Amino acid sequence: MPQTPPESAVVLFNGTDLSNWTSQNGSEPGWKVEDGAMAVVPRAGDIITKETFTDHFLHLEFMTPDMPEATGQAKGNSGVFLQGRYEVQVLDSYGIEVPGMGDCGAIYNQFAPLVNACKPPREWQTYDVIFRAPRFNEAGEMVENVRITVLQNGLVILNNAQLPSTTGGSIDAEVATPGPLRLQDHGNDVRYRNIWVVPLPLEGSDKY
Ligand code: MG
Repeated sequence: MPQTPPESAVVLFNGTDLSNWTSQNGSEPGWKVEDGAMAVVPRAGDIITKETFTDHFLHLEFMTPDMPEATGQAKGNSGVFLQGRYEVQVLDSYGIEVPGMGDCGAIYNQFAPLVNACKPPREWQTYDVIFRAPRFNEAGEMVENVRITVLQNGLVILNNAQLPSTTGGSIDAEVATPGPLRLQDHGNDVRYRNIWVVPLPLEGSDKY
């Protein structure tokens, strides 16, 4: 069953429409809504949220298609780009013994997931992400890298990974500015549902 968003959540997709999304150039998103999920329409392009985020918690659910003949990066590929810049890979990596930096749950080309937490294709899976934006000093120099923690289907697959840079295909290099959530069209019929974000304060506080 889909997880219920908390009251403080910004609900980005609740199964009905794409009103919180655009294409990357600002036009109507070309993806379709079907059976309470949003589905990649191959070659429609990536989609991004209208809202942008700094530190945040993200929950979403995804399902890869069954492509028994496909292998590697051609097998149910999509991706979740935090701030539009850092890709947590979505792929059918079910059953792979030692997942690599291109497999499902990887920070693409930077970190492999700690374990393979993948379910088979055509089953709903969850990502729960804690995203901490990079920090800068008064001179504008980065003093702390972006940090990403990811749970896949309830298992920790990335523990506070500190990324040296954006991943390939970042929307921009403006890493000091907030960015949208972005979902990748990699040509495969990957589906998403129940997408919400809880913005987080940049520092601890006794009153949220
Ligand atoms: Mg991808």
